[in-house]
Amino acid sequence: MDQSKLKEIGAALEEEKASTERQLAEYGAAVGEEGFEVSSNDGFADSAQATTERSEVLGMVERLQETHTEIAAALKRIDAGTYGVCEKCGKPISEDRLEARPTARLCLEDQQVASE
Ligand SMILES: [Zn+2]
Repeated sequence: MDQSKLKEIGAALEEEKASTERQLAEYGAAVGEEGFEVSSNDGFADSAQATTERSEVLGMVERLQETHTEIAAALKRIDAGTYGVCEKCGKPISEDRLEARPTARLCLEDQQVASE
């Protein structure tokens, strides 16, 4: 993959990472020692409805966290020069695939095998 394309993807990933961090902050999640943590005393009242809301928020935070982890890992691969290489077979992942899913770790074939 040529450097300018790589830079473009890197910039898009940085942007997405920042936006994920903003969303996490909006949900009251802060970066703790083991990743993001939602503080437990942030005004959630002790009621059934609050419990439901809290578990919804935690679900959202969890998904955002996963996205954040994937983006961070992709950025690390860019730094390490291993971006766009399938982790399983070592072949380059197609640019079309990376454009559609910049955090892809596997080529399409291996992804299909993995999700079967
Ligand atoms: Zn592969």
